[in-house]
Amino acid sequence: METILTGDRATGRLHLGHYFGSLENRIKMQYNYDTYILIADVQALTDNFSNPKKVRDNVYEVALDYLAAGIDPKQAHIYIQSLIPETAELTVYFSNLVSVSRLFRNPTTKFEVAQKKELFGNNGESITYGFLGYPVSQAADIACVNANLVPVGEDQLPHLEQAREIVRKFNKIYGETFNVPEPVLSKNPRIKGLDGNEKMSKSLNNCIYLSDSEEEVAKKVMSAVTDPAKIKKDDPANPDVCMVYYYHKLMKNPNIDNVCKECKNGQRGCVFCKRELINNIMQFLEPIQERRRYYENRPEEVEKILKEGTEATRKKAMEVMKRVREHMKLDYFE
Ligand code: SF4
Repeated sequence: METILTGDRATGRLHLGHYFGSLENRIKMQYNYDTYILIADVQALTDNFSNPKKVRDNVYEVALDYLAAGIDPKQAHIYIQSLIPETAELTVYFSNLVSVSRLFRNPTTKFEVAQKKELFGNNGESITYGFLGYPVSQAADIACVNANLVPVGEDQLPHLEQAREIVRKFNKIYGETFNVPEPVLSKNPRIKGLDGNEKMSKSLNNCIYLSDSEEEVAKKVMSAVTDPAKIKKDDPANPDVCMVYYYHKLMKNPNIDNVCKECKNGQRGCVFCKRELINNIMQFLEPIQERRRYYENRPEEVEKILKEGTEATRKKAMEVMKRVREHMKLDYFE
């Protein structure tokens, strides 16, 4: 069975962007692959090192969202990154295999460096060693479970390419040790925000969370961007420029052809259209939220799932690292 590594940083609750961008796929894949899902608390600390409580709380929130969305702990190992010390050890070994200039050349890093400079000025103080080394620790996460498949969005491809380079170099110097991980590209890498933004993102404050109440969903949908040309209820409009229509499609509204036709013919009001969307989103979220409530009421069960997932991952990481130390001639006293 092939091995998949995937996961999320413990920076907040998961939203529809996560669901359609990756979770939906992971839920399907968990039955056919040896699946490891990491809750990346160490990587969350690269941006939140002064707020460890936030990271700790979000480990639990992300775990709840995984279970609520349909990740089956009997199929997938959900684990906490910081509890796999082998990853830290492998990060140190990998750090010799990549130059600082190569890390700066990574397009995703370049973009984030530019963003940080814009926010914090040009003195470089905001660029920490941990931030720059992020792709190296990501490579170690992948290699620690010897994953051969990694689901990613296009924006994460440069990081995966860097991981592939590091792993190849390791295999060349020390002998075949790791699989070279292949990307599994998401079909829906970026889910647009209801505000028309190209990405649903916490930092843009345009997310519909899997745990949102009907009231919260309604507030967000009611302020969604629609066709600005439509002023009155019976004005014809262009659904292709409307975020409500985009979400009707995303939610697989069985009435989608009518939505399109009625919108174009001026037979559909935006308020009615938005109410239909709110109902569809809530219908979609209902089983997810029911499972979330189940687990919220059983914190000891969630803890057990995380503990077992982490133990299984640690077992695998220890096996991998035994081989790494042998190949690197670091297997003293063994
Ligand atoms: S009727 Fe619906 S699809 Fe058409 S512009 Fe209004 S909200 Fe958008």
